[in-house]
Amino acid sequence: MIPHVLAELGYLLASACFIVGLKRLGSPATAPAGNRLSAWGMLIAVVVTLLDTQMVSWTAIVIGLVLGSGIGLWMARTVQMTSMPQLVALLNGFGGAASVLVAGAEFLRSELAGEAIPPETGVVIQLSLLIGAVTFSGSLIAWAKLQEVMTGKPITWPGQKLMTGLIALGIVGLAGWQLTDAASLLPAFYTVIGLAVVLGVLLVIPIGGADMPVVISLLNSYSGIAAAMTGFVINNHVLIIAGALVGSSGIILTRIMCKAMNRSLANVLFGAFGQTAGTGGAIGASSEGLTVRSVSAEDAAVQLAYAQQVIVVPGYGLAVAQAQHVVRELADLIEKNGGTVRYAIHPVAGRMPGHMNVLLAEANVPYDKLFDMDAINDQFEQADVALVIGANDVVNPAARSDPASPIYGMPILDVDKAKSIIVMKRGMNPGFAGIENALFYHPRTAMLFGDAKGSLSALVSEIKAL
Ligand code: NDP
Repeated sequence: MIPHVLAELGYLLASACFIVGLKRLGSPATAPAGNRLSAWGMLIAVVVTLLDTQMVSWTAIVIGLVLGSGIGLWMARTVQMTSMPQLVALLNGFGGAASVLVAGAEFLRSELAGEAIPPETGVVIQLSLLIGAVTFSGSLIAWAKLQEVMTGKPITWPGQKLMTGLIALGIVGLAGWQLTDAASLLPAFYTVIGLAVVLGVLLVIPIGGADMPVVISLLNSYSGIAAAMTGFVINNHVLIIAGALVGSSGIILTRIMCKAMNRSLANVLFGAFGQTAGTGGAIGASSEGLTVRSVSAEDAAVQLAYAQQVIVVPGYGLAVAQAQHVVRELADLIEKNGGTVRYAIHPVAGRMPGHMNVLLAEANVPYDKLFDMDAINDQFEQADVALVIGANDVVNPAARSDPASPIYGMPILDVDKAKSIIVMKRGMNPGFAGIENALFYHPRTAMLFGDAKGSLSALVSEIKAL
């Protein structure tokens, strides 16, 4: 065991690493260093905890470390960028489960030792169990929806909200009872955990798959709050600070996502958005009889090769096609021909915030070529070509003009104002919101059908051959 003061100093150092690391995540240029600093913080926290307390044997710790690191390494190497939200959901769920295990173990230890649990510790134990268990089961449902293991559509039935409310009330009642009536402790303890697991399921199944990334961000925040509560239970300062950081950043991210979709959090959680998802139209005509104009790679290449100003709008389809490297190659060719290429990044393009930034950074696209929606929207009018690659909802003008549209009011990239628009996608399938997009029928729009990577490679070859 190390002296207590040394342990506290170690925790302080680890907390400082987390805070500075988080701050550095604010810019793509400093993010990798920020990530590394936070990882160092975590290593310090783990080592200090191991030296400060000896609750389990070193053999158990080494086995846990090897197993955990192995699984983590395998997941980090194999997971696709498009499946990242599912992975985050699983990690949140495990975080919630860990809080339940630690707070539950502390509760059972006090019980077995016959120690009276002070009321303030009792309250944080109950909060940790409740929030941790809700996070665990809710995250597993979010994972199952995104992984398409279960239907992504909202699952609702009459009286569902009443049932959810009654279970929540039951949990509060039982938790309160545990704080006052010592004789009833163990059965009530297990019932609270069981009901909280059911509550997590009931809270997430009525939410459509399209809203899962927001739910995951919220559950991320819950897992942080549960961890902070657990920090109070075992009196561990670094856990309280790290939990509070996760809890608050998760809430901030949730707010940013809701704002970028022009939806309230209540609408996301209780609005059952996506219940009546639309279907993909056939190539050729809209539901109003408008027709699309398709273009060949050869013609699109000529247009791009001689364009002075090109704005690339990446979306989810670019991520699916893994087309980030070839888009960079295309941009290099356009710039070699004397044009300028900028990238317009919508805050919810893709399936999680920052999705496009990470993809483009992977292909070494310079950060100063990436522009946020507010910074680039008034530049579309001067753009010779807006090149939309696998983006749909984030460029749908109905968000500006059609009050009946489910995405009405969502801020969008004003692609339709460009002098000419080339949209690359495989067919006329709708995007995440499941609705038709009038941009594809716009007189200045030409559709280049095909997988984004294949089409971009064709454009590169055509421009090289000019
Ligand atoms: P969308 O989901 O709206 O559209 C993606 C388009 O890509 C589809 O229409 C699809 O059409 C096309 N596509 C798919 N695969 C390929 C491929 N291999 N090659 C070419 N095209 C392809 O994506 P956006 O990025 O525009 O919008 C993101 C959506 O996700 C928004 O609705 C947003 O609200 C939602 N969302 C995002 C969050 C975030 O944080 N980023 C969080 C929550 C929700 P086709 O099949 O015809 O090719």
